[in-house]
Amino acid sequence: MDLHLVGWNAHWRDLFEPYASQYLTPGRVVAEHRDAYRIETEHGERAGALAGRLRHRATRRADLPAVGDFVAVRLTDDAAGPAIVFAVLPRRTAFVRRAAGDRPDDQVIAANVDTVFVMLGLDHDFNVRRVERYLAAVWESGARPVVLLNKSDLCDGVAARAEALQRVALGVGVHVISALTADGIDTLRPYLQEGLTAGVVGSSGVGKSTLLNRLLGRDVQATNGVREHDSRGRHTTTHRELFVLPGGGVVIDTPGMREFKLSSALSDVEGLESVFADIEALAGQCRFADCAHRLEPGCAVREAVARGQLDADRLSSYEKLLKELRYEASRDDPSAARERKRQGRIGSKEIKRMFREGKR
Ligand code: GDP
Ligand code: ZN
Repeated sequence: MDLHLVGWNAHWRDLFEPYASQYLTPGRVVAEHRDAYRIETEHGERAGALAGRLRHRATRRADLPAVGDFVAVRLTDDAAGPAIVFAVLPRRTAFVRRAAGDRPDDQVIAANVDTVFVMLGLDHDFNVRRVERYLAAVWESGARPVVLLNKSDLCDGVAARAEALQRVALGVGVHVISALTADGIDTLRPYLQEGLTAGVVGSSGVGKSTLLNRLLGRDVQATNGVREHDSRGRHTTTHRELFVLPGGGVVIDTPGMREFKLSSALSDVEGLESVFADIEALAGQCRFADCAHRLEPGCAVREAVARGQLDADRLSSYEKLLKELRYEASRDDPSAARERKRQGRIGSKEIKRMFREGKR
């Protein structure tokens, strides 16, 4: 397969350069089940296995390949033989499930995703606070969030809801679609092009499978919340989690992203700052640099609430998330925190600048 179809481009070619001279071939991880991988290469899709060197040098789970990773592999002479993974190219973005206990167990559930669709069903009563958390998690991964309001065919007054959401989703595209009737699907084209990778998060039943099937033009995921389970608990290693769209672009749909728990999402204040860029901007005008927006004189944030420019619920949502984050940070290992900060910064810097320049 031409690797460009799965997102290969000049950026990855440059990063791969040092491996090209070592008889290694580039590939992209298209599925991962425990330690079994499927890897797309220029010579076709292969089972992946980790080289001892990679396995032994890995100090954290996140050092091992994840779905979406570009890797350097050695192909065996046997055309059906495995691709041995020697290296994982540095990730542009990483969607991480944070382990409850040890940092080394943090798990990358999707790598190198450019756009994450945060999907909500218009039939459910959508929760703005939950959207804020999703957005923070996506910004933190380094990817760009885009909100999809699905099932437009089921309700009226869609435009008003989209508008309400746009007020909390600062600098984020909000698209009203129906995965079922394909209404509005064309508006997603800019995110789905050769060289780009998208992912989908959202509660069960919002329509993630329906959207994927629609984009692919064939049924690859069982809808209706019915998934294929192997009754003996085995894994079907042939099941892909990275799909090439016929019109260009790639979509990653992993169980990890589907089961993504918001409680394990946040670790860095950068993601929050992007979501709450309005509050951050106001805070910059408080008289005291360390203003907690409570009783301090000259607090621009509280003044905005008093004037009705800032929703008090939004402020308390921000404070609540900040508090959770500080708790998380207190048990954090500084180097891991720095790493995540670096990853999350791409989107958040940009969004803050947009906000300052008043273009949102
Ligand atoms: P998932 O759990 O997020 O993958 O959700 P599914 O794709 O399995 O969809 C759950 C249910 O919602 C299924 O019965 C779908 O047919 C239905 N559904 C998905 N998208 C739409 C839509 O745009 N309109 C309507 N009316 N139903 C939809
Ligand atoms: Zn203040």
